[in-house]
Amino acid sequence: MYNPTNREIEEKIPAHILSIMERFRLSGEESFIVGGSLRDIMLGLEPHDFDLATSSLPRRTSEIFANERVIETGMKHGTVTVIVENDPVEITTFRIDGSYTDSRHPDGVSFTRNIAEDLSRRDFTVNAMAFSPNVGLVDPFGGREDLEKKILRAVGEPCKRFDEDALRIMRAFRFSAQLGFDIEKETLDGARKCGKGLEKIARERICSEFLRLLSSDGVARSLMLMKENGILPFVVREYIPSEKVISDIEKMPSDTIARLGFFLCDAEKEEAAGIINSLKCSNKQKIGAMAIIRGARLSVDTEADARRFIGNVGEYAKYAIRASVLLGKSPEAAIELVEKNNAPCTVAQLKISGKELAEIGFCGKEIGIILEALLAAVIENPCLNSREELSILAKEIKEERR
Ligand code: ATP
Ligand code: MG
Repeated sequence: MYNPTNREIEEKIPAHILSIMERFRLSGEESFIVGGSLRDIMLGLEPHDFDLATSSLPRRTSEIFANERVIETGMKHGTVTVIVENDPVEITTFRIDGSYTDSRHPDGVSFTRNIAEDLSRRDFTVNAMAFSPNVGLVDPFGGREDLEKKILRAVGEPCKRFDEDALRIMRAFRFSAQLGFDIEKETLDGARKCGKGLEKIARERICSEFLRLLSSDGVARSLMLMKENGILPFVVREYIPSEKVISDIEKMPSDTIARLGFFLCDAEKEEAAGIINSLKCSNKQKIGAMAIIRGARLSVDTEADARRFIGNVGEYAKYAIRASVLLGKSPEAAIELVEKNNAPCTVAQLKISGKELAEIGFCGKEIGIILEALLAAVIENPCLNSREELSILAKEIKEERR
């Protein structure tokens, strides 16, 4: 287990972040790196997005950094963004969240000058540590020990914390998948008991956590845990993915759309579309996931199958064919058939266009129908894809249609 000294932690903090902290110190204020970046440093991972917590009130932070670009992002919540060396750094005043009456938003926030109080409002012990070069590590809830044990543990009483903000339940499963951590027993019990609170959380926020979970390395175990603990229905309604889908999802590329499509492969088309809509996924995510679901049901054995498949599934073919192989619809060799195929698979790739068909006497709706027929012919035999062959073929098809 990587167990960095204060010196080693400091070495991982970029110079411009250290200089912000030094400016605070010279102004008589405390400041710490907090949250994910510190957690990742302690794990020996590459940190990103350094968030700072400070004793300084937002107005004063703006004053201290008056010669930098300052965006007063969320003054009410104590957050100021200071742009140093083109990097926007979020700096938040030590804060205590007021009581939560709606499982979502604290009724009010108040500021404190005590870092330990700020850490106590945070979700998990491994996210509730702080570090500064002159104070060292502040770890009132045993985050470092839990990192060593690879455990996610709620700060304080799990049920109370999940009642305050049910999104933390999703975050627990997401972090568990992302970090490969177990969820500590009482925390997991709390998640199970408080799952219903997720009904009050904005669907977009649930979606964002869920998609991050799906694209994590440890997704299978986390999904199993969600299924066993009755959390999945709050995310995907009545849909219950099979154990095969859950265990094989890690074999899909870690792309969000690839994973979402595969996750929903056991659903009927309408059900899958309904789930995606209810999660308020983006249109791109919806189109991609639905293409993968469609492709996963098809089998590809020959080159012509592969071309038909690409024509049907489009740009998501490389993910869809993996899904089809994992679900036993296509042989392993199909992956190469699809990936190596560069024969024309869409109307746009035909060597004759609708406009050219119009020039040689085709008109109206007929043009679209002929183009589709030409594509079907080219998919069976790519050698036909030349302007001469296609214009002859087009006339033949027209004759046949009479
Ligand atoms: P990452 O950015 O890698 O997803 P993170 O831990 O930095 O992980 P953020 O969402 O960026 O997660 O939040 C930063 C910190 O704010 C967290 O580490 C945690 O201390 C606190 N936090 C975020 N969301 C919540 C929440 N819903 N309840 C309590 N604390 C939270
Ligand atoms: Mg973060």
